[in-house]
Amino acid sequence: MSILTAASSKSVFKGYDYYTRKKVLSACQLDESRWAGQVSGSNGETYDVTIDIRHPRKGRCSCPFADGRQVVCKHMVALFFTAFPDEAEKYRQELEEQTALENTVFQMASNLAEIHSILHEVPRGALEEMLFAFFTTLSPEDQLEFKETLLGIAEEYGQLFEDEEEDDEDEEEGDGPPKWTTWIS
Ligand SMILES: [Zn+2]
Repeated sequence: MSILTAASSKSVFKGYDYYTRKKVLSACQLDESRWAGQVSGSNGETYDVTIDIRHPRKGRCSCPFADGRQVVCKHMVALFFTAFPDEAEKYRQELEEQTALENTVFQMASNLAEIHSILHEVPRGALEEMLFAFFTTLSPEDQLEFKETLLGIAEEYGQLFEDEEEDDEDEEEGDGPPKWTTWIS
């Protein structure tokens, strides 16, 4: 078990933040596995910190969170990153990858949400009108592809196309574009 796995992910994140904000005031190696240093806290206090990379839970810190307990606090993590800058760089890359992934997932989710809201907001008739108007401008080949795309969307969002069936029952037939279900298949 390393310092980083012994600490909570929150402590690692905050410890990295302390490291990058130069909160570690001093650091010196005591022996093969132990480092000691001083780390400034969030309210201007200074904490005495010792880390033991061979026995992470034997680390000490005078902060209220860690004092007298066998936990790895953010100050120990900050001291660890100061003693091992390569580990800090590795963690930075992990954070970056995680953020990129989160952004991608977030982007996809918001795109889907937007499609949802558009499909809900546009009255069914207007949606069909738009789709049909666009459909008629396409070449026969593109029309085929467009139909397939629409069918895919319909499969995915089937209920969106069907939800409003009840409202449509009273509508007069004949006016407007044909129901998409009549020209799509
Ligand atoms: Zn601490």
